[in-house]
Amino acid sequence: MRFDILTLFPNMFSSPLQESILGKAIERGLIQIQTVNIRDFALDKHKVVDDTPYGGGQGMVMKVEPIARAIESVKSQNPSAWTIYLTPQGKPFDQDSARKLSSQPHLVLLCGRYEGVDERVKDLFIDEEISIGDYVLTGGELAAMVLIDAVSRFIPGVLGSDRSAEEDSFFNSLLEYPQYTRPFNFRGSGIPEVLLSGNHSAISLWRRKEALRRTSSRRPDLLTKANLSEEDKKLLEEILKQEKREKAGHGF
Ligand code: SAM
Repeated sequence: MRFDILTLFPNMFSSPLQESILGKAIERGLIQIQTVNIRDFALDKHKVVDDTPYGGGQGMVMKVEPIARAIESVKSQNPSAWTIYLTPQGKPFDQDSARKLSSQPHLVLLCGRYEGVDERVKDLFIDEEISIGDYVLTGGELAAMVLIDAVSRFIPGVLGSDRSAEEDSFFNSLLEYPQYTRPFNFRGSGIPEVLLSGNHSAISLWRRKEALRRTSSRRPDLLTKANLSEEDKKLLEEILKQEKREKAGHGF
């Protein structure tokens, strides 16, 4: 899969894209990432990429021409590349959007700065606007990195041959169960006995129940979207009863 990032700050991407899983995925040719400096497409000799807003008001707006030329240059190699503008006004990004985007062979990611981009950029060149959360960043670069990271995890081979993003939190709308590793006892704090039992079906059942418990207490909104089996529903009932008892002071 290929990502082209249109930015005024291409250096921001060098270190994060060299490290760990993404670095290895690039080395192994599973993903290709290219940064394109929007300033290189400015029309004047001073390479100006922003201007004051029509109608007045604070801040500067990114000009349409350099962005248009940068997008056209990337899309001349692949006219069907899916073009995304990262913006706090976009569709909220989640695990399902990441999975869907991973089926695109080529994404073009436009990172805004200042007060954002001239509205005509969106009207003429953008297929989708995406927000990574209800807060405002100084630029779209961190948002693009978040998107690339989450999307890449769905590309076969990126997480290794024996690991799938479909085992993580949000798969089927559940948070993941608690995880432990050695030592068995850390400052008096142990681990659930069942994980030492070697009984795989008991371990699976425990993990499923803990995933349901965690989701129900931390993100009950997710449970309404989850595809729960009859067994899941029974486990949830048990969890809710247990919580009720604990609240009433009869816990054990
Ligand atoms: N004036 C804009 C507004 O109120 O919607 C915010 C501009 S912000 C300071 C500059 C750039 O950061 C945006 O053009 C966008 O590319 C990026 N950005 C900021 N917050 C973001 C978010 N939550 N998700 C994605 N991109 C974001």
